[in-house]
Amino acid sequence: MTSIHTPTDPPRRLLGLWAHPDDESYLSAGLMDRVVRAGGQVTVVTLTDGEAGFPEDDPRSAEELRRLRRSELRAALGVYGVDDVRFLGIPDGGLSTAPEPPLVDALEAVVREVRPDVVVTFGPDGITGHDDHTTTSRLAGEAWRRVGHGELWHAAKTDGWLARWRELHDRLGVWMTEEPTGVREDEIALLLDLAPAEIERKRAALAAHGSQSDIVAAAMGEATYRRWIDQETFRLPLAAGVLR
Ligand SMILES: [Zn+2]
Repeated sequence: MTSIHTPTDPPRRLLGLWAHPDDESYLSAGLMDRVVRAGGQVTVVTLTDGEAGFPEDDPRSAEELRRLRRSELRAALGVYGVDDVRFLGIPDGGLSTAPEPPLVDALEAVVREVRPDVVVTFGPDGITGHDDHTTTSRLAGEAWRRVGHGELWHAAKTDGWLARWRELHDRLGVWMTEEPTGVREDEIALLLDLAPAEIERKRAALAAHGSQSDIVAAAMGEATYRRWIDQETFRLPLAAGVLR
């Protein structure tokens, strides 16, 4: 393994492998921000287009919703000047039942092409426990392992962060299964406490995902929402048994 990057030394080449448009912004907007401002490059892959993130009685067609969420993702990344975004187009909610070999092959091809210093994705808990998230973690880990280049980081939450927001999460029903596993200090690859200007840009990226974020921000209240998004943590996947 190469040496661990520190906040003053962001990866030059970052590859985010995510399940839905908006995962990348909630979990890694601040990281993408620092990579770009340090002169690095960011590539984002979304495995699904997120067309299931709407009420069942939404009158729009699945194709319209896919188009909307793709354009929201492009706009969100546009906040950072990132335009390298890849869409794998797997049905939203269908990752765990999609045939795995072609998906791992597709992810492997991106890792080989991009040759990232860091691949960032979900850990085995998938943060929210969403099936698509946990599946993305597994597929991304496999693709990264095949190439054997750079580091693999898992988006994570600290115990302190989970405790601070537990009441709010319970009230709003944020987790689909249970709370994510709090990251241990010795597993932390990078912990970012975002500066006010970084929170401002992250809020703009999330606003671009308005079909998903508006309702969350309204439920929390704007001031709380901004505090809720102000920290990003990335875990080295040693404990997950991912490293060889
Ligand atoms: Zn998601």
